[in-house]
Amino acid sequence: MGSTRTQATPGRQPNTPRKPKKWLYPAAIEREYVRFVQAYASRVTDAVERFVVPALQLVRGDDLAQPPEGDRWYTALELAFKEALEAAVVSPESLRTVIALFGARVDVFNARQFHELLRAAYGVDVFRLEPMLGQMMRVWEAENLRLITSIPPQYLETLRGRVVAAVQRGETLKSLTAEVRSTYDLPKNRAELIARDQIGKLNGQLTGYRQRNVGVAEYKWRGVLDERERDEHVEREGETFKWNEPPPDGHPGHPIRCRCWAEPILPALDDLDGLIVH
Ligand SMILES: [Zn+2]
Repeated sequence: MGSTRTQATPGRQPNTPRKPKKWLYPAAIEREYVRFVQAYASRVTDAVERFVVPALQLVRGDDLAQPPEGDRWYTALELAFKEALEAAVVSPESLRTVIALFGARVDVFNARQFHELLRAAYGVDVFRLEPMLGQMMRVWEAENLRLITSIPPQYLETLRGRVVAAVQRGETLKSLTAEVRSTYDLPKNRAELIARDQIGKLNGQLTGYRQRNVGVAEYKWRGVLDERERDEHVEREGETFKWNEPPPDGHPGHPIRCRCWAEPILPALDDLDGLIVH
């Protein structure tokens, strides 16, 4: 105990690991996932433009600044929103396939980072079966499917409430149309938030699983240290956490849109679980 290796003998694997280098974030995959989820979200604003905007004409064709009489406007809106929803959704099977492909890419990226780090630290690689990986990926895929498919109905519900209230206030056709179009960023922004958050969560989860799986019990909190990082996370920089005792908001990558990472506190090579590959 306490002995420090001061010189590395070439060709000999150090039992005491070197300090791990930076663990890269799957930023390119995240950008592509943002584009994919935003493309899905744009289907709902296209459908609003196609079905809801023309229906406003029926509701306020008179363009008068007073509430309409009767209830025909309400029935017309109801139908338009129903048509918009039907036009916006796609089959869950095809969505799930693409989601699974993105998940698999994050997994491959994360595994590469993990093995590069082990090689850099020990001079050898360590492999161990990952029996929980399949189940983890299935949960991530199902959760992503749920979040992404919730974008159109959730947005249309919000929009419908706003349109009904605006008609009842007596808004003119012109201002109604402008109000509808002013909401087109909402599903796009939500898509971006979901995509970034989910890639970060998966990457963080995979990192934690891989480290624990080979017997790493603790990590040092590492942040990106830019102006977007939360103050609480900047304060944690370099602090040690146990994998079985997460901080209140979770391990790195778990809090919403957190890009921090867990630098493993590597034990001696002999204390790792797994197959050593030279
Ligand atoms: Zn963070």
